[in-house]
Amino acid sequence: MTWPLDKPREECGVFAVHLTAPADVAALCHLGLFALQHRGQESCGICVSDGAEIAIEKDMGLVAEVFTEERLAKLRLPAARTGIGHTRYSTTGSSLRFNAQPLTVRSNKGILALAHNGNFTNARIIRNQMLEDGAVFQTTNDSEVMINLIARYSHLSLEQATARVMGELQGGFAVVIMDKTKVLGLRDAHGVRPLVIGRLPGGYVLASEPAALTIIGAEVVRDVQPGELVVADDRGLHSRQVLTPQPTPCAFEWIYFARGDGALDGADVHEARLRMGEILAREAPVEADVIVGVPDSGLAAAIGYARASGIPYDLGLYKSPYAGRTFINPNQRLRELKVHLKLTPTAAIRGKRVVLVDDSIVRGTTSGRIVQMLRDAGAREVHFRVSSPPIKYPCYYGIDTAARQELAAATMSVEEIRQKIGADTLYFISEAGLSRAIGIAETCLACFNGAYPAGHPGEEAAKEGLELPLFELAS
Ligand code: SF4
Repeated sequence: MTWPLDKPREECGVFAVHLTAPADVAALCHLGLFALQHRGQESCGICVSDGAEIAIEKDMGLVAEVFTEERLAKLRLPAARTGIGHTRYSTTGSSLRFNAQPLTVRSNKGILALAHNGNFTNARIIRNQMLEDGAVFQTTNDSEVMINLIARYSHLSLEQATARVMGELQGGFAVVIMDKTKVLGLRDAHGVRPLVIGRLPGGYVLASEPAALTIIGAEVVRDVQPGELVVADDRGLHSRQVLTPQPTPCAFEWIYFARGDGALDGADVHEARLRMGEILAREAPVEADVIVGVPDSGLAAAIGYARASGIPYDLGLYKSPYAGRTFINPNQRLRELKVHLKLTPTAAIRGKRVVLVDDSIVRGTTSGRIVQMLRDAGAREVHFRVSSPPIKYPCYYGIDTAARQELAAATMSVEEIRQKIGADTLYFISEAGLSRAIGIAETCLACFNGAYPAGHPGEEAAKEGLELPLFELAS
């Protein structure tokens, strides 16, 4: 099992490729998924086609574990030109093998495979209607709802049916779909979840992040626009603006989720994180001797804070490269020690007044342990600075932020959180400061202010998700 520190968890990464000449599509998908591993570590899958056959391999586990040479060999169709891939962390549908993606079905449009990132907030309602009409579901994840909706439009082409379904689904999502001869990619009208287009000699690639394009040598072309449907086939790349764009991409992509080596919707992730730190330093200056970031995602903001404050940056926390996964049972004692498995203080903080920069505080438990660890190692003062505003509301668009009652900022004031984590001072970046740092006109900030751009189903309904009790499934 994985032992992440107390962070929101991203849901999924998607990848798709279509080439006009046969190639090792499985290898391209495999590499692409490596670059998207941070977006989901519970399961992964690849589906490829040579125009006649479709081969799929998927399972629970990391990309490196699931795709053995043997499994990749099964995906190496000699004339393969089309493929999609997926890395998954479940927020809807339990973490079971049958929920791993890509999801494949035989339909009136031939064999289809689908992989998605994000949530359809009205999936449960649609699914219940379909169950009443006699539809059959094999998984408990909401991707199956979309693929069933597409199949319902039997008189329409795959592109036309997908465009129709885009208007029926609500929420925040980015989806890739393939049949034997092409791939489709789309984003919801708000562009909450990212999807970028890349070009290879003789084809096109779609991926959640630019890193998955550059790793296979593709040139980054542009982002899929909110509400846009793109199709890559033998005639090239075609685009259709299906829904009126109302862009509010997820601010957390820049705070924490996305890799720092690319740009989303025109805003460079690393530069945005540096600016968050600079703005934090201006909003909440403090006299200190050293700036320390919590690895990995707090480091860029810490460097920004150091630059703006003139206080030196140092590596005050060492992160073990081998503590990402452990198979030890997480009993209470080990849970308490888990932060020590990952992080240990260095001599850089001994006898110093430390500014500790992190990207978020969710429950506050890990933050408190890190503060205590620094004090135990000799820090004289610990001033905590956070490059996201307080998380007060759950996310309904594919991010697991924990239930509302578990969020420290939902039930405590900043001063109460400061006392809980034992810091000398505590400051969260302002919403305005965060928006300035990202530099996009509007982003989703719903987990900070409760203003959900694409609506929401309510916390109870979201918690129930699509986990229908068996008797309900059978009725
Ligand atoms: S609610 Fe928060 S985590 Fe969810 S999409 Fe909006 S900004 Fe991102």
